[in-house]
Amino acid sequence: MAYRRPFDGDIDISDSWQGHRDRPTPSSEPGVDYACGPGTAVLAPADGVIRDTHDSPDGGGGRTVLLRTGDDWHRALHLSSIEPGIFPGKRVSQGQVIARSGRSAAGSEFGVGSHLHWTFWRARGDIPPVPGTTRTDDFERFVGQNRSAGVGSFEEDDMFSEEDRALLTTVRNEIMNTHAGIWSGGQASIDGQVRVFNYGVLPIVVRNQELIAELWGKIAGLEEVVKQLTTTNNVMLDVDAINAANDLGARDARNGFANDVVTIHPDIP
Ligand SMILES: [Zn+2]
Repeated sequence: MAYRRPFDGDIDISDSWQGHRDRPTPSSEPGVDYACGPGTAVLAPADGVIRDTHDSPDGGGGRTVLLRTGDDWHRALHLSSIEPGIFPGKRVSQGQVIARSGRSAAGSEFGVGSHLHWTFWRARGDIPPVPGTTRTDDFERFVGQNRSAGVGSFEEDDMFSEEDRALLTTVRNEIMNTHAGIWSGGQASIDGQVRVFNYGVLPIVVRNQELIAELWGKIAGLEEVVKQLTTTNNVMLDVDAINAANDLGARDARNGFANDVVTIHPDIP
């Protein structure tokens, strides 16, 4: 996944990474200053995980969000607000709004002129940077470059514990071993007909439905299982298993796992 800038549109750089280093008193956390007006949506530059937030204007950086994408780390400073639902451990997608830019610093909501300061630490892996101490890199050099591991491998995502990973692997194997498919919208070819699933996750066999219904909500990682499976093209469904599930009236027990086959079209090779 290639990095994008953390906002929409063209916004000038008011001070470069090098500029921060060349100040009479060099910045302790050199980054790129983007001349965002107050309230500009601050976007995740790639898929990642929120690692820390500081929701107060206190400190030199004011209100901040620390984000990890792949092995790289980022910190947005001087924010006016952090978006609802953005908290440590929260997984975010590229382009998702995580905060609003502002002027917060040194205990005041108006401690600096309006801008977004974007700090970038490259290739830290699991080792969190120490803002103000760990050497930074120039984010502008990496815009458009592929840096993050992206989705597709929950085993490598540090938001999951070993226990979570074991559980997810079990769930995935259970699903794969029954030759059932799992979808969140999409289509599959069954007996020469293309079945289009407009929504929901399924069809899966009864045993898996119960397993997933039981686990759903306990770990956000199930979302990742769904993503992985939906990237598999033309998975053949176990029609007997689907019928069995329907016959058993499992539908009502699934709590949001709809397996409605809403339309059937002729198969077009
Ligand atoms: Zn700055």
